[in-house]
Amino acid sequence: MAGEPQADCLFCKIVAGEVPATIVRETDTTVAFRDINPQAPTHVLVIPKVHYPDAASLAAAEPQVIADILRESREVAAEDKVEDRGYRVVFNTGAGAGQTVFHAHLHVLGGRGLQWPPG
Ligand code: C5P
Repeated sequence: MAGEPQADCLFCKIVAGEVPATIVRETDTTVAFRDINPQAPTHVLVIPKVHYPDAASLAAAEPQVIADILRESREVAAEDKVEDRGYRVVFNTGAGAGQTVFHAHLHVLGGRGLQWPPG
């Protein structure tokens, strides 16, 4: 069924506590944890507890959860004190855009200057 945990999904395993992660925040619908390969001083992933392969399919099926993820990104930025300097939120969507884990996740990047356009 749509949204159900997938046995072979790494991020579903993090949600279930079966794979360790440095969790910084958790709500009824989301988990936020530090990226294992950080690209900036703050690099946190905010993920839905439900399983959808990318942000587009999550937005179509459960748009409220996308709102929850964005609200959580703001809390992460505030807790890490990166708001003043600016920070970036990114949903890589599809392999061509750099997505490697096919459970929707929002990158929250901050704590250094960020270039535009991204690579
Ligand atoms: O957008 P993309 O799918 O490439 O992002 C996946 C992210 O998940 C990567 O930044 C990677 O470092 C991170 N990751 C993690 N913990 C894992 C496996 C991957 O934080 N155990």
